[in-house]
Amino acid sequence: MGIISKILGLVLTVSGALILGYGMGPTAGDLSFVLFIVGLVVMSLGFSLLTAGRKKKEEKPSLPTVTEIRCNGCDFKEIRDYEKGDYILMPVEANCPKCSGKMTIEGVYVVREEPEKDRF
Ligand SMILES: [Zn+2]
Repeated sequence: MGIISKILGLVLTVSGALILGYGMGPTAGDLSFVLFIVGLVVMSLGFSLLTAGRKKKEEKPSLPTVTEIRCNGCDFKEIRDYEKGDYILMPVEANCPKCSGKMTIEGVYVVREEPEKDRF
């Protein structure tokens, strides 16, 4: 339901406008009122098809990202929330709580949280 509904919506809108134009023209005669209504209905149908797909495009919520910090001196490892500017092998200002040695960022991971509704 992507491009097809868009094309269909465009075709309906254009043909609706044409019917409307014909209905308002001098050649329509007694049918002008009927053509006017039909044109309006077809056009609004086309418009609703054209605008229907746009609602689905929503901004994706940013996935939770964590930063893994590792001590250079011992085996201490810590995972904290990702902060802007974090990159792999970046030296961390804080010292290791175990040996107060220097710590380095060892990895930045995106935590995948699959919503329940997506599992079938
Ligand atoms: Zn340490």
